[in-house]
Parts: sequence; C-alpha cells; structure tokens
Amino acid sequence: MNVEDIFKSWIKTINPTEEQLQLAKERLDICNTCPSKQKGMGKMNICNLCNCPISYDEKPIGKTYSEKNDCPLHKWKS
Ligand code: SF4
Repeated sequence: MNVEDIFKSWIKTINPTEEQLQLAKERLDICNTCPSKQKGMGKMNICNLCNCPISYDEKPIGKTYSEKNDCPLHKWKS
C-alpha cells in the first residue's frame, strides 16, 4: 500500500482532469462486474479485498484514481 498515492488519489477524486476521470470510470466499470465489490456506508461501494472505497453514488472515487495501488485481482493496473 502506497500512502502518498492514496492521498493523491483523493485529490484527483475532488478535482480530476478529463483523462483521469475517464480512466477512473473505466476501472469502475470493471469493479462493477466484480464479486469483490461490496456495499459500504451510505452510497459508498468498496473493494472487499483491499477495503478501499471505489465509488460513491455510482461515481468513481479513491482507489479508481490510483497510480500505484493496483487492483488486488489484477483486473486493472495502475
Ligand atoms: S479493485 Fe479489483 S478486486 Fe476490487 S472490486 Fe475492483 S476489480 Fe474487484
């Protein structure tokens, strides 16, 4: 786990470039078909393997913006 990358991922979540948003959406599309996607608090969804938030209200957040923390099942790469 790369803590600096997690911090940067949340900065991107708040104010992504168009390119970053597109990549995060593509990753979330994969997560949305994954059995490891799990409901979190409220409108949040998480990955139950790394416990990282992946979407809120169907929008990509956190993990889906990562540059260094890969999907634990290697379904997408950072
Ligand atoms: S990060 Fe990987 S393992 Fe986790 S929900 Fe997304 S696709 Fe599944």
